[in-house]
Amino acid sequence: MFMNHSESYEQIREAIERLCADFPGEYWRKQDEKDRYPTEFVQALIDTGYLSVLIPEEYGGSGLDLKAACIILETIHKSGGNGAACHAQMYTMGTLLRHGSNTQKEQWLPGIADGSLRLQAFGVTEPSSGTDTTRITTTAVRDGDDYVINGQKIWTSRAEHSDLMLLLARTEDREAVNKPTKGLSVFLVNLKEAEKNSLTITPIETMINHATTSVFFDNLRVPADNLIGEEGEGFRYILDGMNAERILIAAECIGDARFLVNKASEYATEREVFGRPIGQNQGIQFPIAEAHVQTEAAALMVEKACSDFDSGKQCGTEANMAKLLASEASWKAADICMQTLGGFAFAQEYDVERKFRETRLYRIAPVSTNLILSHVGTHVLGMPKSF
Ligand SMILES: Cc1cc2nc3c(=O)[nH]c(=O)nc-3n(C[C@H](O)[C@H](O)[C@H](O)COP(=O)(O)OP(=O)(O)OC[C@H]3O[C@@H](n4cnc5c(N)ncnc54)[C@H](O)[C@@H]3O)c2cc1C
Repeated sequence: MFMNHSESYEQIREAIERLCADFPGEYWRKQDEKDRYPTEFVQALIDTGYLSVLIPEEYGGSGLDLKAACIILETIHKSGGNGAACHAQMYTMGTLLRHGSNTQKEQWLPGIADGSLRLQAFGVTEPSSGTDTTRITTTAVRDGDDYVINGQKIWTSRAEHSDLMLLLARTEDREAVNKPTKGLSVFLVNLKEAEKNSLTITPIETMINHATTSVFFDNLRVPADNLIGEEGEGFRYILDGMNAERILIAAECIGDARFLVNKASEYATEREVFGRPIGQNQGIQFPIAEAHVQTEAAALMVEKACSDFDSGKQCGTEANMAKLLASEASWKAADICMQTLGGFAFAQEYDVERKFRETRLYRIAPVSTNLILSHVGTHVLGMPKSF
């Protein structure tokens, strides 16, 4: 059943809980074991309209706010599932929505809203530039009605399961512009229409099931009509979208942390060793309680960042701080949950070792803890920059 546009946050949470009940731990373990994309789960989210909540109603979405999207992702993760298979569809579209022309929006957004077009891939990171995005070397050179793309992206997740990719490329040399952030442009690349020899997607084997890839461009022609916004201004457009990405991923971390704290406290209550529940020992009980306290504190920061985003306030710092606190809380919860389950934590059937691996990602991606601390140290506290 397609979601009702007037659903309250609580109704959305309950509906996602019901949807996730059809995708229990066993389902996720199987996907993880086979490194398989959770196609059925993603399709269920598309069919019910929950993946297009942020798309305005005029383009076929439900026109809800980021808070609704956070609730969806948090609930998926709290159930033991993983929204990483499709979360990009929620935030990547924002760049097109905010900076695309009316023609582009009319062309692409209705298909993204009804699921016939998947915009799951976001190509920013490159092997040689890492976090230093302004040093990317993938170029887009105008040639008649097209741009010709050459270069390589790494860690482009879901590229094999996406029709479209939002791509950041250099349209002007870094040395030729007055600011390194200028001369970068954003394109909507139609992966399905790309000529065979000009686009190669190679999966990367990783410690988690994340469908991530390397993408190679060899004279890939992209229509100039697919340039989003103004040429050379792409860095700003991408940064805009990153706030939503960070807040949504922080919500996923809160879901992971709550899943792990629940697992740990349930196990600690049931498991008896030395004739009593292990959770009666404060050496076991207190770390779990501490993980809970940190999770709930982080959740407040996520709520604050989300409410700032939804009311149109500047929220770069809040989004970063929310992502940092939530990813540290989920990592702490994962470590404590492992310790609580003892040897059984290593048994796949408990889903703890899987979550332990999955949630570790978020201290590194989409932006690492160090880079967030650097942002706070320099932008908020005014200390000198290290780079
Ligand atoms: C599974 C996975 C999925 C991903 N999906 C995508 C995707 O879909 N699209 C995409 O574009 N990218 C994606 N990424 C890339 C991700 O955003 C980057 O890995 C992340 O931003 C870190 O960049 P890096 O790996 O190049 O690390 P580097 O920039 O090489 O940094 C390595 C380490 O050094 C630290 N460091 C670097 N510079 C400094 C400094 N000045 N001060 C202090 N510490 C510093 C960093 O914090 C980090 O811990 C993904 C990554 C992974 C692992």
